[in-house]
Amino acid sequence: MSDSTKEIPAAPSDFIRDIVAKHVAEKKYPHIHTRFPPEPNGYLHIGHAKSICLNFGIAREFGGICNLRMDDTNPTKEDVEYVDSIRADVNWLIAGWADKNLGLNNSKPFYASDYFDQIYEFAIALIKKGKAFVCDLSPDETDEYRRQGKASPFRDRSVEENLDLFARMKAGEFPDGKRSLRAKIQPDSPNIWLRDPLIYRIKHAEHHQTGAKWCIYPMYDFAHCLSDYIEGITHSICTLEFEVHRPLYDWILESLDLPRALPKQYEFARLALGYTVMSKRKLMQLVNEKLVTGWDDPRMPTISGIRRRGVTPEALRNFAYNIGITKYNGITDVAVLEHAIREDLNKRALRRLAVLRPLKIVIANFPEGKIEELDAVNNPEDENAGKRKIPFSRELFIERDDFQEIPPPKFFRLKPGGEVRLKYAYIIKCDEVVKDASGKIVELRCTADLDSKSGGATAGRKVKGTIHWVSAKHAIDVEVRLYDRLFTVPEPDADGDFKKFLNPHSLEVITAKLEPSLKDAKSNERYQFERLAYFALDKDSSPEKIIFNRTITLKDAWAKEAQKI
Ligand code: ATP
Ligand code: MG
Repeated sequence: MSDSTKEIPAAPSDFIRDIVAKHVAEKKYPHIHTRFPPEPNGYLHIGHAKSICLNFGIAREFGGICNLRMDDTNPTKEDVEYVDSIRADVNWLIAGWADKNLGLNNSKPFYASDYFDQIYEFAIALIKKGKAFVCDLSPDETDEYRRQGKASPFRDRSVEENLDLFARMKAGEFPDGKRSLRAKIQPDSPNIWLRDPLIYRIKHAEHHQTGAKWCIYPMYDFAHCLSDYIEGITHSICTLEFEVHRPLYDWILESLDLPRALPKQYEFARLALGYTVMSKRKLMQLVNEKLVTGWDDPRMPTISGIRRRGVTPEALRNFAYNIGITKYNGITDVAVLEHAIREDLNKRALRRLAVLRPLKIVIANFPEGKIEELDAVNNPEDENAGKRKIPFSRELFIERDDFQEIPPPKFFRLKPGGEVRLKYAYIIKCDEVVKDASGKIVELRCTADLDSKSGGATAGRKVKGTIHWVSAKHAIDVEVRLYDRLFTVPEPDADGDFKKFLNPHSLEVITAKLEPSLKDAKSNERYQFERLAYFALDKDSSPEKIIFNRTITLKDAWAKEAQKI
């Protein structure tokens, strides 16, 4: 068990946790039992992460259980690929949280489809109580009748006829849409969800878990409350749009005169995040139209994309805690997410030197062939991270941006005749700018103050700028993928055509010069290329072809842009 499982963080308080805490104090239930019920029709996104952290977090904080349940009642839209990705994503996000009680110890998640037999029996029980009927209206007619608050002409069928027709629906006697099973509640209820809603429909389709066994499938509203009941869920937490379904949730359970305590539904505001889209349908569109490389493209707001980009589960969980749980829908500023990521990476990232856009410099007074091994600090935020050696030689690369031939005022990096400190090394002075025939700067000739490195006579001498560098001979050439926000506006969804706001510069691929220690970079480590950004190895990186992804820049360049306008 890792440290993070032992010590439960100060949990945030919110209205749902307050309700749970009250129930715990009253000993209302033997234990608290929540669930996270994704439909396996797409990959999980950061909105789901909020719900996972809430449901698993409550189980963890109150010594309860949380089930991961595939809400798989719609066979035509679902797929095992999604089941697998959901399991992987949830496991990753709650890693270090997955202590004994968490329901997901991951032999097998729960499936609503495992309960199809029981749910079918519950439907028969409703029919026998005169609370459900088989309806022959077409799907369109049903919608229209419900919209108008009109009763179905088939509403008063006898129990016997309903039982017979429902059994024949199950036996496959009728084509899709020919008949349905509907709850008998109130055709003209002010709440449309109570206007005799569908509870079973005919769908001749194979299911990824149950194969060809069924040709009728329960509707979400019917399956969901019953799955909650079957699993012994106490707090069924969902997003606000289900508030209007709650009377139906309660009606179904109460109508069945069930022996055990009934689950209760609670709703909270879903996460909407700036500069992205969140609906599975739109994310799928980005994937299918190849506007991104896949569901786990590091620019996607999916959990797998965010993970691939190099974000840690701790950062995502902190984000979920920071945003809180409320009843009010609103858009969360993406800066809140980025702040959580930076805060986490600042603590853990190993500092390394790397040059993204190299400009060669030659230290004229440093002997050819000489190599010095200099000490560099691995992480100033973590004294246990120690030091490493970095090679220094006569020819180096610095960042092209760190030199300006005609510098603006207050430019404290390198300029003709000016001095700058090379991080962990010497103060250098630029003596000469070498250009090619086209006038492009190809090299700088410099001299070093050879007493100015750590331990030297002029080590304490101050110059205004410090820049990073790598030794030309020792640097490794590596593919670096510079990711940025996928959309250019905070609300790409606002007027429908979200694709017109795709950021054309959301990915730039370059070959960068990295300090040689990075050839042993590990996928579980995080790196800060000093003065630049945080990076992590891509999942496709290999010793033969190292690939780094930029997780996030050190500072928010977008905020600076916004100020300029
Ligand atoms: P669909 O349109 O496919 O139903 P969905 O976003 O509702 O999409 P589900 O797989 O049904 O996806 O969601 C699983 C759980 O995650 C639900 O309990 C849902 O309320 C919650 N959830 C989904 N989106 C968000 C979000 N943006 N913020 C918080 N919770 C969310
Ligand atoms: Mg849903």
